[in-house]
Amino acid sequence: MKILVAVKRVIDYNVQIRVKEDNSGVVTDNVKMSTNPPDDNAIEEAVKIKEAGKAKEVVAVSVGEEKAQETVRKALAVGADRGILVKVDGVIEPLAVSKILKKIVEKEKPDLVFMGKQAIDDDCNQTGQMLAALLNWPQATFASKIEVKEKTLEVTREVDEGLETIEVNVPAIVTCDLRLNEPRYASLPNIMKAKKKPIEQISAGDLGVDVKSRIEQIKVEEPPKRKAGIKVASVEELVQKLKNEAKVI
Ligand code: AMP
Repeated sequence: MKILVAVKRVIDYNVQIRVKEDNSGVVTDNVKMSTNPPDDNAIEEAVKIKEAGKAKEVVAVSVGEEKAQETVRKALAVGADRGILVKVDGVIEPLAVSKILKKIVEKEKPDLVFMGKQAIDDDCNQTGQMLAALLNWPQATFASKIEVKEKTLEVTREVDEGLETIEVNVPAIVTCDLRLNEPRYASLPNIMKAKKKPIEQISAGDLGVDVKSRIEQIKVEEPPKRKAGIKVASVEELVQKLKNEAKVI
């Protein structure tokens, strides 16, 4: 079995995001970038399945600028066998990413595609679902447990009502939740070894995919600043304020 894992380069989750002065987006210059957190879970799961002898190869793919190579390299350092970087300049939308990934799937013929449930920069939660639709493959989203069976996958999903377990036929798309596993850290020897692993570079143009934006971003604004709270002297005062000022009870 071969597993393709999609990894996106995003602003590190610890960075305090700053909006550009002209409201055209967020500041990315000189900002720490990392792998989108649930994509780390996706790689970890694929590597664990390989270590359990149930997969032969794990291939990491990223779509983005030249620097996204670092994200692919990190996936190689935690156990992926080889990488693919599809080079695109500037912002790329989920529909274009899923069209590119479809081309990569047709070329690589994986049995499974693992992705993150959502990218923390655009919060779209669309790419996996769109890829499943384009390929006409089954999808299991928000996976918090994955069991590889003979020709199917048993996937536990975190839904509002609790845990839902579904069985999907392979090939399938799985989008991974943060609770799926604990991603490992890359050891220094593995970081060194990853430098020798191959990363194939392809341009989106070579794949014949139109990556033009379909969405016009009007403006990006900071959320309103939260006002400071107040202290109340008693429960009675709290209830009175909730009733008469906040009018929530
Ligand atoms: P989104 O639909 O943007 O919330 O992204 C969901 C998932 O799709 C991410 O967690 C990644 O696994 C994958 N993905 C989105 N954009 C990219 C990209 N540019 N390169 C590689 N994978 C991506």
